[in-house]
Parts: sequence; C-alpha cells; structure tokens
Amino acid sequence: MKIERIIKKFQENHPGEDASILSLAFDFARDAHKDQIRKNGEPYIQHPLHTAYLLTEIKADLATVTAGLLHDVPEDTDKTLEDIKILFGSEIATLVEGVTKLGKIKYRGIERYRENLKKMFLAMASDLRVIFIKFCDRLNNLRTLEILPPEKQKRIAQETLEIYAPIAGLLGIWRLKWQMEDICFKALFPEKYHELEYKYEVEKKVERNRFFYKIKSILTPKLEEAELKYTIEVRFKHLYSIYLKMQEKDRKFDEIYDVFALRIIVPTVDDCYKTLGIIHTLWKPKPNRFKDYIAVPKPNGYQSLHTTIFGPEGKTTEFQIRTQEMHEESIYGLSAHWYYKNQRGQSIYKAPTWVEEIIEIQKEITTTSEFVKKIKLDIFRDRIFVFSPKGDVFELPEGATPIDFAYAVHTNIGNKAAGVIVNDKLGKLDQELKNGDFVEIITEKKRPYPNRDWLKFAKTKRARDRIRQFGKKSTLENIKRFLPGIKNK
Ligand code: MN
Repeated sequence: MKIERIIKKFQENHPGEDASILSLAFDFARDAHKDQIRKNGEPYIQHPLHTAYLLTEIKADLATVTAGLLHDVPEDTDKTLEDIKILFGSEIATLVEGVTKLGKIKYRGIERYRENLKKMFLAMASDLRVIFIKFCDRLNNLRTLEILPPEKQKRIAQETLEIYAPIAGLLGIWRLKWQMEDICFKALFPEKYHELEYKYEVEKKVERNRFFYKIKSILTPKLEEAELKYTIEVRFKHLYSIYLKMQEKDRKFDEIYDVFALRIIVPTVDDCYKTLGIIHTLWKPKPNRFKDYIAVPKPNGYQSLHTTIFGPEGKTTEFQIRTQEMHEESIYGLSAHWYYKNQRGQSIYKAPTWVEEIIEIQKEITTTSEFVKKIKLDIFRDRIFVFSPKGDVFELPEGATPIDFAYAVHTNIGNKAAGVIVNDKLGKLDQELKNGDFVEIITEKKRPYPNRDWLKFAKTKRARDRIRQFGKKSTLENIKRFLPGIKNK
C-alpha cells in the first residue's frame, strides 16, 4: 500500500479538498514506526496505511483518515499524543487518543467481553469516528490472522463476531460487517467455509447466471417501456450469512441458496414504487414478504423496498429496490453521513436516538455489568416505529407498550394516560405495539399521578423513570402537588 493510493481514493470522495495533511501524517508515522516490522515480515507502516485506505473506502472524512495513519503511534513508538496534537491539531489528536483508549483488546471470557463492549459504546457515544478507525484497524489485523497461533486466531475471530460485527451492523456499515464476518467464519470453521465457498462460487455459478439472464430478459423490456432508468444486479450473498441461515432454520444449503436475490437501482423514490408495480404485475408476490423500508426506514436509517415473488420456473426471487443514494447509505451507513457533512459543508448528521441513550445511561451507571445489561435491554433490542395521530414518527424498542409511547410523546400525556386507541380500535395500555401502528392516547385531565402498576410492563427507561419519580415523593408532597388548595394553607 502506498500513500499516493490513499490520497487518490480520498480525493475521489472529496473532490477539491486539500489532502496534503495525509502526506505529512504518513512521513511522521513512517518515521515513528521505522524500526518495527509486522508478524508477516512487512514494515509496520503497512498496517496504518491499510487502515487508512479502508477508511477512505467507507468515505471517512480527512481527520479520520489522518488519524487512521497515526493510530498506533502513541501506543507503539516513542512519539507521544502531545507531539500529534502540536503537529496535527486537537481534532486529530482526540481521535487518535480515542482509538488508543480502546486499547489492544483481547478476548478473556465474559467479564472482559463486557468491559470491551462498554468501551466501544462509550467511544461511540463521544465520537463515532473513533469506532470507524477501530473497525478498519481490526479488519486489517484480521487479514493477517493466519500468521497467529490457532488458539489466538480463534479468540480474535470470536471476539470480532460477538462485538465488532454486530456494532458495525447497528451503524449500518454493512461493507465492514460482511468482510469481518467472512474472515472470522473462515478462521473459526475452515471446513464449513471452504465447503460453502465451493458450492456457491463453483457449483452454482452457472445456474445463477442463467437465471439472471432469464429474469432480465422478461423484466427489462417492461422497465424500458415505462421509461425507467435502472441498473439491475445479482446480490452477492456473503458466506457467513448463508451459514447462519442454515443454522437458524436447520435448512439445507440448496433451500437457502435457491432463493435468488436481485437488486434494482433507479433514480427516484417514485421510480422505486413504479418498479415494484411492474414486478408485481409480472410475477405473483409471496404473501407477507413485502416490506416498505422507504416509508418506514429501519432504525439505522436503512431504506429500500423489499419483495419476494414467485419468479420464472416458480423460483422464489427476492428483490431490493432503491435509489442510488439509499444504496450508498446501505453500504457505508453512518460513516457516509460524515462524508455528506464535509462534502457540502453542512451538518446533516444526527446520532440515532440509541446513541444518545447510551450517553444518558452511561451518566448514571457505574458498574460494567449493569451497564451492559441496560444496554442490552434498551439498545440491542430491535426497534419499532409507531405514529402519533398527527403523523409524527416515534422510535421505540420492540415490545414497547402504549405507556412507553405516551411518555415518549410527553411526560404529561404519560402521567395522565387513561386509555389508548391503536389503529382506530380501542386497545389496552399494556399491549405490545407493532411496527407501523397508529397510536392515540386518551388522557384523563383529573388523573393525579401515574399508576405504579405500569412498571410491570413499561419498557423504556424514560417511562419507567417518570413513573418511579412519583413513588419516591412522599404522599404529602404528592397531595400538595396535585391539590394546590392544600399547598396554600
Ligand atoms: Mn492498529
């Protein structure tokens, strides 16, 4: 890897931006690491170079790529963080410090695992870019995994699958997630990996191509008739996901493989729905498999239309339909937001609610195991979206109830909740809400305070805290609060 290649790639994503700081950082890092070599015999500088290159691939900004070049300097050389701060400024120094703090993570059982998870989340909450660097650092280290003793290989692979890959998924950086997963899969189950690789790459390739052309020959005349501009491609399925599906449902490779997956990219949202209409006219859709992630995006921002149809020869075929912008987003996830921000000089990035929640949880909880438990309860759970009567969207954890919704809207709505209407029908305050529900809370103005029994089913921290607040106050205080007449006496 050469620095010129990194600069070139960076400038492809950020045309016109001055990238000379990358050359300076390279000279500095090369000099600092000059006497070190990697386990595979390469000069050490190759590792930060590759890390920085991976960062340009996920469209990271200039400070992040620069910090990628410098990330091992304070830890492994006699140059310090202070040197970096003086030479490159405090933004870059802070990023490097963040990566250094995450430290050299080793997998040592569950306690260590929790500790690492906590560190990752805290780093993420302070600046997501630290996590991008750590991910690229890890991905490059994985590529030289084979040199390590088998035990160590397994440990690193295990940890990557348990901590790094899921977080990359949460952040929507699928590109990194898949790459990490396939390398780890190979390290942990080499025989399974090679077996699937052979089946997928060799045995099924011809069949896959034949079917692709068949579908294309039916679909493209219709798309052209509708004057749609489109690209259509076979979706690459990574081997670890095939393996997981086989495990989950105890199915055979052929059953999973035979689900044929295609992606269509069109210019506008309108075109997405038009394309969907054309597909559903040509082939019969499979019931309950249509998902509109454009109207209701996934929590990490993912957007697309998904449908499964009975295609030619009765073959089950999955379609993803999306715009180019949605496509980029699905590959680069949150890392691409930084790109947009810097490119246009305006901030369109907003941390997802769950990242903000981490900061909140972190403020009040001190022990690691409790922290992780909370995180798992509140964050790792899948999220749902429900709508208020005004059409506002609220993000809630899966399993949330109308009480959680009420408190998400407003504390007063929660405190005074008396009933609920879900999708135009009278519902119960403790029922589980589903994605896409329309929820209207009926309030009782005279109701003095929330019902302690709600704690039995309220899921969100916000709702639970608000309900508990009332329990803590003395009865007299509560009476005073709600019967102002007494207060004055
Ligand atoms: Mn490193």
